[in-house]
Amino acid sequence: MTGQHELPPSLARVLRANSCSGCGLCAGVSPGIAMARDAKGWWRPRAVGPVPAETDALLARACPGATVAPWEPSASASVHPYWGPIRDCLTGYATDPELRFAASSGGALSALALHALATGLVTRVLHVGMDPDAPLLTAIRRSTGRDDVLAAAGSRYAPAAPLAELMTELERPGPILFIGKPCDVGALRQLMAADPSIAARFPLLLSFFCAATPSQTGTDRIIAKLGLTTDDVASFRYRGNGWPGRAEAVTKDGRRASMSYPDSWGAILSKEVQWRCKICPDAVGGVADIAAADAWHADEAGYPLLEEAEGRSLILTRTAAGAAALTRAVADGVLAVTPIKVTEIDSMQPSQARRKRLVASRVAAMALAGLPRPRMAGLAVMRAARRAGVVETLRSLAGSWLRIRQGRW
Ligand SMILES: Cc1cc2nc3c(=O)[nH]c(=O)nc-3n(C[C@H](O)[C@H](O)[C@H](O)COP(=O)(O)OP(=O)(O)OC[C@H]3O[C@@H](n4cnc5c(N)ncnc54)[C@H](O)[C@@H]3O)c2cc1C
Ligand code: SF4
Ligand code: SF4
Repeated sequence: MTGQHELPPSLARVLRANSCSGCGLCAGVSPGIAMARDAKGWWRPRAVGPVPAETDALLARACPGATVAPWEPSASASVHPYWGPIRDCLTGYATDPELRFAASSGGALSALALHALATGLVTRVLHVGMDPDAPLLTAIRRSTGRDDVLAAAGSRYAPAAPLAELMTELERPGPILFIGKPCDVGALRQLMAADPSIAARFPLLLSFFCAATPSQTGTDRIIAKLGLTTDDVASFRYRGNGWPGRAEAVTKDGRRASMSYPDSWGAILSKEVQWRCKICPDAVGGVADIAAADAWHADEAGYPLLEEAEGRSLILTRTAAGAAALTRAVADGVLAVTPIKVTEIDSMQPSQARRKRLVASRVAAMALAGLPRPRMAGLAVMRAARRAGVVETLRSLAGSWLRIRQGRW
């Protein structure tokens, strides 16, 4: 609250449920709301002016902490309880070797974005990248060419609110390609459903499989572990420049310090996760037109091998627009792809499958604790829960309830 202003009821409920993902949509559509970082560096809304009742109603529908965008069932897309609606199921990589190397996995998203710019489908790409003025932070980026897209390639495992300047963005003319986390894309998808004039501005929405948004504190811990301070750092990336690549800081005096992906993501960042991510019913970008992920090679036990290799993305098209964009990109030679069976995703992404199985029990723990919960219809949450064992479910329920009771959520 600022002065006499209060958050609208939709968002007050979201904050009570601790289910804000930090997407920025609320600030992006309402001048009465601004984003501010909380103690751990996650973006959260605060009231800076009045918010009309119709905006409150829109947020109740579009905010991913209030209503999670449903998957669109479609005759030509099969809907898997873990992996969402699927038209094409492929692995692939950008044929531009620099892009493939710099990107997070195989550079599929950056290649698709560049192709959309080159063919005139869009005039710019709205996404995020390293903040050049504060390299440990992540800022909104508007890319119009190869250099921009290349600079923003790679995952930023930190808070990012790509929708926070949406209305300003829409004041500029031209169609826009949006790349964001599944919750970011879901928020935009719901807004587009509510307002066809906004839908007309976004011909393509791209996303990726998303384990979680770690706190900004997680990044600070990596920097400290590398023996550096914030002031030392001139640039910082979490991965890429290889697959998976290393978390690497370059200092102002030209030194390089880095950490492996298992040490940065596995030992630090994955322990710094917000609650909304633990109950995420669509962390696989099922609401996007196309979603990409790491097409990890599996070991003999069926678990992902994280050894350095040439980048390879899992690519799932979800909609007719996504399938068409992918077909054009492959025909024009910017992406090389190989079809795979949907069952092959299981060994590439086991932790996504486990989280989806446990969403229902974690949300049930919120209900037991008397908390509000985000609406999650049309996302196969119960179908996924039925794949969990009884012991797994009960452990998850009891563990989540205890965390909530102890305030560790
Ligand atoms: C928070 C987070 C969690 C992830 N969790 C998983 C996971 O569970 N499983 C998995 O397979 N892969 C995960 N990834 C990585 C993801 O796999 C790759 O981005 C994906 O494989 C696409 O690779 P690419 O080479 O096509 O992407 P690139 O060509 O490198 O493009 C990546 C795009 O993502 C955008 N981006 C980067 N960070 C963010 C962010 N924080 N918020 C919004 N947009 C961002 C960039 O602007 C860029 O446009 C995660 C990435 C992030 C950022
Ligand atoms: S999830 Fe997004 S729209 Fe909802 S309160 Fe958080 S920042 Fe705002
Ligand atoms: S796990 Fe879900 S809620 Fe969390 S950042 Fe990813 S898409 Fe958003």
